[in-house]
Amino acid sequence: MIDSHCHLADRKFAADLSGVISQANAAGVTHMVTIADDVSEAEKCRQLAEKYDQLFYTVGVHPHAAKEWNVEHGKSKVLECAQDKKMVAVGEIGLDYHYMNSPKDDQIRAFYDQIVIAQELNFPIVVHNRESFEDLLSIIDELKPTAMVLHCCTEEWANAKKLIELGYLLGFTGIATYPKSVAIREVIKQCPLKQMMIETDAPYLAPEGRRGERCEPAMVTEVAKCIADIKGVSLQEVDRITTKNTMDFYRLSPDILAL
Ligand SMILES: [Zn+2]
Ligand SMILES: [Zn+2]
Repeated sequence: MIDSHCHLADRKFAADLSGVISQANAAGVTHMVTIADDVSEAEKCRQLAEKYDQLFYTVGVHPHAAKEWNVEHGKSKVLECAQDKKMVAVGEIGLDYHYMNSPKDDQIRAFYDQIVIAQELNFPIVVHNRESFEDLLSIIDELKPTAMVLHCCTEEWANAKKLIELGYLLGFTGIATYPKSVAIREVIKQCPLKQMMIETDAPYLAPEGRRGERCEPAMVTEVAKCIADIKGVSLQEVDRITTKNTMDFYRLSPDILAL
């Protein structure tokens, strides 16, 4: 099993990351993709991936940090890491009109520029979206990214369906396990398994029963169980298909996973 999206460069993991990774391995989570929120975090992710065989990483500027987006600086970091086998995507990028930590125009510009960079260098994109679906769709419609995951999908089915029809993937987190998340479970029911990835978004979003705790990659097993229940298939089947999806999306060869 792979945690396709977590934030292991977060300071909440600074004191005990090797233990966190061992716990994940013990739970059957063999690999993790640690996601960057800005250029300096991308550098931390790069260093972690160099240190731990189990980790891969992304380079990107989150919509929250979009006001600091600088296309030359951002692009040079992607270029610097692009030759590194462990850099697997541009992300996380996107739009967030809920928190509005950066002005809308800055968010749109950073998102747009980073899709262009990803396309030029042939990387998939990891996308964050909150209360901004219309703008997201119009940018995607224009730039037509080759490979994309909408991570931590909380969209209603009508929106999720549009992305599925375009061939994109949806990432599901521990939110799917919360009693109130009826609409998310409906999306899981409808979404083909071959277009799903599982993730924790750790250190946030611990699953039901562990809420309030620091979320860790080992907990991605709870997301897989939740999907297995909804789909009426075995946990092994969810593991097998989502692992394959994640390997295909991030282009993780069996050789590199065996390291
Ligand atoms: Zn996000
Ligand atoms: Zn994230």
